[in-house]
Order: sequence, then C-alpha cells, then structure tokens
Amino acid sequence: MGARRAYLDHAASAPLLPEARVAMEPYLAAAFGNPSGAHVEARRARRAVDDARDQMAELLGADPGEVVFTSGGTEADNLAVFGPEIGGTDGKAALVCTAIEHPAVLAACRERARLSDAPLREVGATKDGLVDLEELADACRPDVALVSVMSANNEVGTIQPLDAVAEVVRRRAPRAVLHTDAVQAAPWLDVADHAAAADLVSLSAHKFGGPKGVGALVVRSGVTVRPLLFGGGQERERRSGTTNVAGVVGMAAALAVTARRRDRVNAAVTRRRDRLGDGLLRGVPGAAETGDRETRTPGHLHVRFAGIESEALVVLLDEAGVAVSAGSSCSSGATEPSHVLLAMGLDLSEAQSGIRFSLGPETTDADVDAALAAVPGAVARLRD
Ligand code: PLP
Repeated sequence: MGARRAYLDHAASAPLLPEARVAMEPYLAAAFGNPSGAHVEARRARRAVDDARDQMAELLGADPGEVVFTSGGTEADNLAVFGPEIGGTDGKAALVCTAIEHPAVLAACRERARLSDAPLREVGATKDGLVDLEELADACRPDVALVSVMSANNEVGTIQPLDAVAEVVRRRAPRAVLHTDAVQAAPWLDVADHAAAADLVSLSAHKFGGPKGVGALVVRSGVTVRPLLFGGGQERERRSGTTNVAGVVGMAAALAVTARRRDRVNAAVTRRRDRLGDGLLRGVPGAAETGDRETRTPGHLHVRFAGIESEALVVLLDEAGVAVSAGSSCSSGATEPSHVLLAMGLDLSEAQSGIRFSLGPETTDADVDAALAAVPGAVARLRD
C-alpha cells in the first residue's frame, strides 16, 4: 500500500492508538506472566489486569467485579444471550431483540431460541433506524426473560433511546434481563451514562482504538450469567481461560484516551462527516442518506446510490484508495441485502445499494476530499 489511502471504515476496526500500544508493550515482552500464578511474574501480570479492570469499571460506571473480560464483542454478546437463565415455569420463556442487531446478537438469539424451544420476538425499526417502541412494548410481555437492544447500530450508526427502551422493558416485562450491545456506541458515547439502565453491556476494544480479540461484558451485580467457557474459573467463574493481559491493558488505555478527548473528537468528526455527506448528496445524482444525522454517531455516514450494487462500489473505491464497506454481506456469490436496511423498510434494491463511510479520530480533511473526488466517478462507471 504505497499510495496514500483514505481509511473510512472505522466501524469495522479502528487503528490501534499509540497510547494503547505503549501500555501493552511490557506485557507482550518482559511481563509475560500468567496472572493466575503465585510468583512475582504472575503477580505483576495480575496487577496489570486488576488495574485495567478498575479503569474500565470507572469509565463504564460499573464496579470492578461487574466487568468480565472476553475475547471481543462477539463473545460478550454470546455470553449476554446464552448466559442468563431464561426458563420460566414452563421452561419456555421468550426472548426479544431488535431486527437490526449485529449478527453476534441476532444469530445468538435465534440459536438460543431454537435450543430452548422458546419464542423469539424480533422488533422492527423506524425508517430512521430507531427501535420501534410500540412494537417493543407489544413484544415485552410477562413471559420475556431477555431483551437485547443495541446502543448504536453498526451499519447506519443510529443511537437507540436506551432509557425509553428500559422504561418499556421494566414496565411490561419486569423479570427480563436487559442487554445492550454498546460495541459501536463506545467510541462516541459515555457508555456509563447511555447504558446505565442495562443489566448487561457488551464492548469490543478494536472499535475504539484498542487491540482486536479483546472485549468486555458488564454484568451488573444481582444478574447471574452462566459461563460459555468452562475451565480454570477465571473472571469469577464467568469466563474461563487465561486472561489476555496485554489485550485488556490496551483496551483500558484506549477507552481512557477515548473518554478524555471525546468532546473534541466528536465535534471534529461530526464536522467532517457532515461535509462528506453534503458533498456526496450534492455531487452524485440519485444519492440518498440513510437515517437522521441528529440520532447517529458522529462517525457514521450511510449513503445509498440508486442503481448500483454496493459490493462493486466498494471494490472500485478500494482501487481508488478509499476504504469503505457495504452494509450487505457477500455470500455464495450473491450480494445479500442488508437485514438492517430491510428492517428499516427500504426495498431490496435500496438495501443493496448502501455504502457505510465510517470516520474516526484520525480522519483528516484530505481523507474526506479523497472520498469526494473518488465516489462520483466510481458511481458513474458502475451505472454505465
Ligand atoms: N456488535 C457490533 C455492533 C459490532 O459492530 C461488532 C463488530 O463489528 C460486534 C458486535 C463484534 O465485535 P468483535 O469484532 O469484537 O467480535
């Protein structure tokens, strides 16, 4: 990759922050001990894990004992979905999630429902990508044991009204555990505040400048999760396996930096994101923005280009040095429409024509200019 590239795919993964790398380095080298041991090397590693846990807890508005380290967002989501007891008196308590969840929640809920022979109610979204609160209220009945509503959507970036969601859940399904996938929210929102009403909160480090392969699930005290992984009983019996010491240290350092500079970064990213959005809408005939900017994370911009297939546009833009992603996934040779866009009421061709531009703290005006220069020509080429 010699030529300069514009990386606009932060929602897929953000670059490792220098502060995170520096914090991790000792634990990738000299301080290699297993934190479960009893000797000096082990105690040094354990101290690092304890400090990372304290730091994460403080940033997330939790107690240290409520933070369970995992191998990332997918594992945190699976632990949240499979961990709580759901058996009602008839052993068939219901599950509720939104139809716009990340597959780590959606597929996990479907599998849990299948294994437990329990009903799963998937709640739709408005045209702006917000959970439909009336449908949620309808789905939340006294039989519901688990509700999962994401904090911010990964494709469109819509920030969900979690306080309103919690109010509905507590009133209509009082015995339900409320989970929120805050993986896409954590780079932008104060999760301690936004997800305060949730019992279970999932995070993934690589979305906010930490390393890949590490995440956390906040499990509020009083909520029980059965482990998915059995073994040495780490994480207070909730997640066995030797802790990724460097990983959790890097995650805590990245979240601390993210929180410290949040206001400044959010303002700068919003400005660049809006310039990109305005420029694309002006410069490309038939371009339409998905969702409402006011209820989106600062980093997300989702644009549909009528008449094109998003996967093809991703490839052309990549050749032009601009990294973006399609909300849809490519499987068995055919482009699958985005389940999120379909749930928002878009039709099939609209749902196949969307591109996610996701900006981050490192995004520059030059990156925005590069995208504005590359997209109109690439769209025109595909339409030809
Ligand atoms: N949840 C959301 C909303 C995500 O965007 C992602 C990653 O794209 C995940 C979960 C999965 O996280 P991880 O990549 O750490 O497994």
